[in-house]
Amino acid sequence: MGNIVAIVGRPNVGKSTFFNRLIQRREAIVDSVSGVTRDRHYGKSDWNGRKFSLIDTGGYIIGSDDIFEAEIDKQVELAIDEADAIIFMVDVETGITPMDEDVAFLLRKVDKPVLLAVNKVDNNKRLANAVEFYNLGLGEYFPIASTNGSGTGDLLDALIEALPESEAEEESELPRFAVVGRPNAGKSSFINALIGEDRYIVTDVAGTTRDSIDTKYNRFGFEFNLVDTAGIRRKAKVKEDLEFYSVMRSVRAIENCDVCLVVLDAQRGFDGQVQNIFWLAQRNRKGIVILVNKWDLIDKETNTLKEYEANIRREIEPFTDVPIIFISVLTKQRVFKAIETAVQIFENRSKKLKTREFNDVMLPIIENNPPPAYKGKYVKIKFCMQLPTPQPQFAFFCNLPQYVRDPYKRFLENKIRKEFDFSGVPITIYFRKK
Ligand code: GDP
Ligand code: GDP
Repeated sequence: MGNIVAIVGRPNVGKSTFFNRLIQRREAIVDSVSGVTRDRHYGKSDWNGRKFSLIDTGGYIIGSDDIFEAEIDKQVELAIDEADAIIFMVDVETGITPMDEDVAFLLRKVDKPVLLAVNKVDNNKRLANAVEFYNLGLGEYFPIASTNGSGTGDLLDALIEALPESEAEEESELPRFAVVGRPNAGKSSFINALIGEDRYIVTDVAGTTRDSIDTKYNRFGFEFNLVDTAGIRRKAKVKEDLEFYSVMRSVRAIENCDVCLVVLDAQRGFDGQVQNIFWLAQRNRKGIVILVNKWDLIDKETNTLKEYEANIRREIEPFTDVPIIFISVLTKQRVFKAIETAVQIFENRSKKLKTREFNDVMLPIIENNPPPAYKGKYVKIKFCMQLPTPQPQFAFFCNLPQYVRDPYKRFLENKIRKEFDFSGVPITIYFRKK
């Protein structure tokens, strides 16, 4: 289970430059393959083998030039709530500004690791100037230059050192569900409908990270854990309907779950904010069920549901093999179906195909549709297998893995989905040399 690191600071200090440097290139490539480059402010990184998630909080504020101080304060407070460590970035070019002092004031009270990064330290003169940042009262600082990476190694060493040990993933057979979506979609109502009366709550299981709590439920004959309902309890604190808040709140819950129930308000539709949450779950390789809530409020004609569904599927291309369920928490319509489906998706995600069975199905398909020749080379796929990973990954062994192109990869993915039920589950395909 990974740690979450938030980068805070006022606009233009270099947060996104730093963020882009740390985010693994591999991920960017994967995104461009699927044509998906949605949320550029959240990504995975690792340093010396230690993985963590990185959030560029500033990236969520658009038109950041005329940003209000109060907004930065809220941003910082939320980062303090949700992150395991905070990188506070300032700019040696401008020196300390009142806004920096403001942020420092908030951060001095925090009992989570705070690392002060003084950016744009491109030369020795600036290195000398950086010393003024001691005045922020945050102790040691790290002079860095995000554009060329200098100093970032020391900063990351200190970050890894300061991160709380993330405990090993809990050995639980129970599905872990996260109910996510933008404010007012009906998440709390859904959870209430789901858990019904208190007697259905079995236990509070201490979560795998310090402040996330799994709550175990037994309902409709299903047992499952609800992940990070703490986020919902804390909800009253932040009412703002900003993308930043809903995404940030979703990150931890998504990372800690097996299946995300992405709830949307039928009247608002599958808008940008929900899409961000959807792709966040997809990129984290979580199972996904889309719940279109408040269906009672929609005027329905013959094709309303079909068209609504088709519109969502267009938005989630190429990962369209996802259940979409139209529910009304108010009238209790299909709430049971939603949970039943989520359990099914959990099973799909945990499924392990036997190598023999997988080859028996896939090899004849490959025989009939071999990878097209590329640069005059013929790729011969010899065998394939599902890898023993927590979520579905498949390896295809061949003579020239580097010559397999993306369209063929998608072809294989479609065939796997057609032959074996992996509905609602992102799958990963590798080509390896044999
Ligand atoms: P953000 O608003 O905090 O995300 O800042 P950006 O990453 O967009 O950077 C703001 C400006 O500072 C851009 O023009 C960057 O090229 C520049 N910048 C970022 N890092 C450095 C650095 O290490 N040295 C210098 N000289 N400029 C930098
Ligand atoms: P959350 O912010 O996502 O947790 O949303 P809430 O559960 O607080 O619900 C927001 C509002 O939508 C509340 O007034 C609910 O009563 C209402 N609501 C939730 N589900 C439904 C539904 O299925 N139909 C209708 N008409 N209203 C709903």
